[in-house]
Order: sequence, then C-alpha cells, then structure tokens
Amino acid sequence: MVFTSTTNPELRPSNNATCLEALAFLLVIMFSTLTFADDDNQSGEKRMADNTRKNPLEEGKVPDAEIPKTDIEWRKRLTREQFAITRKKGTERAFSGTYWNTKTPGTYRCICCGEPLFRSGEKFDSGCGWPSFYAPIDTKKENIKGNVVAEHEDRSLASMTGFGIRTEVTCRRCGAHLGHVFNDGPPPTGLRYCINSASILLEPEAKGTSPRDEDSKKSR
Ligand SMILES: [Zn+2]
Repeated sequence: MVFTSTTNPELRPSNNATCLEALAFLLVIMFSTLTFADDDNQSGEKRMADNTRKNPLEEGKVPDAEIPKTDIEWRKRLTREQFAITRKKGTERAFSGTYWNTKTPGTYRCICCGEPLFRSGEKFDSGCGWPSFYAPIDTKKENIKGNVVAEHEDRSLASMTGFGIRTEVTCRRCGAHLGHVFNDGPPPTGLRYCINSASILLEPEAKGTSPRDEDSKKSR
C-alpha cells in the first residue's frame, strides 16, 4: 500500500482507513464546489453585480405565473450562489451561511418562490453548521394544501466511501434544492432537515402579529 509508511501490520488497517476517509473528504469538497465551476467564467464585475442583486422575493411571494421556467430566467433573479445551490443542487460550506446559528423568531421562505417552508419554532441547534429543522411547516395544522417540501432519493454520493443514499429535500412549489433530511434529529420527529441558508429567506416575526395567520391568509 503506497500510503502506508509503517511496517507494523497492526497499524495498517487504521492508516488505510484514515487515507480513505481523507480521500472521501477531498472528493466531497471537490463535488460540492463543482456546481460553482460553470459560473467561474463570469467576470469579477458581473459576479459583484450578482451578489448585490436584490431578490424579488423581498417584495413578497412570487405569483405562480411569475415563477421562472429556465436557467436563464433563474440567473436573472438569483445571486450566483443562490442559483448554484437551488437550481444546480449545490451545497454551501458548513458554518458559512446566514442562518446556521440564527435564533430570530419568524418564517423561512423559499428564496426562489417565496413559499413558507420552515418555522423558527422547529429550528434546533444541530451543531452541523447548516440551519436544521426537525420538521417543515405542518400543512394540516395550518390549513395549507399539500406538503410544502418534496423528498427525492439522492445517489450522488452513494459510491463514495462512508456515504450512503441520501434523501434530498426540495421546495414542492418551484423545485428549488433546499438540502437533505436525515434520521438523526430530535423528538418529536427524529428527523433533521439540513438546509442551505442560500435556499431560504427569513421573514422575522413582526411584533404583535402571528406569521401563521399571515401565511394561511396568503395561501387561500
Ligand atoms: Zn420554491
């Protein structure tokens, strides 16, 4: 084994395992940055403009007819990072996003279409470096039709050592990639919705108003 420097056979398995772990980690980093590579041809000026672009979502929920259909349309609406993550299934670096440690009460909406997806009440500190929720918005309780998120089998990392098949989470309304859901969350669901900050926008709860009332009104 090329990577093994010791002659002590007892140490070989753990050293090999360490090498494989390091290789797997490297591959994950390469994979997670791949989706950003196609945008690297943009000029620095263009990128700066992208990052200061105001998302129309800040003005409210995007009407059905105005939800973009093509990558060209999405690029006009989203920053470079938001596009790479939501439309190309990218992943932001752990502890780098806006909301991984946020405790502000409010509603997290889809950055692409404005659909309310998660509440601060279900957010918990998972220590993983991404905003984590034990459940999305409870559509039955809040009188919203259908689930707000959709789940899909993700085999993209299944061939790598130490990784299995994951469950991808997307916005049901516009298909935006949000993150993944894992079975290591806290009660009452035991689930951990591990979400990219770039995929969501926090609408802080206004004093004296309930976001639940606001959202159920808007969804009717
Ligand atoms: Zn959406």
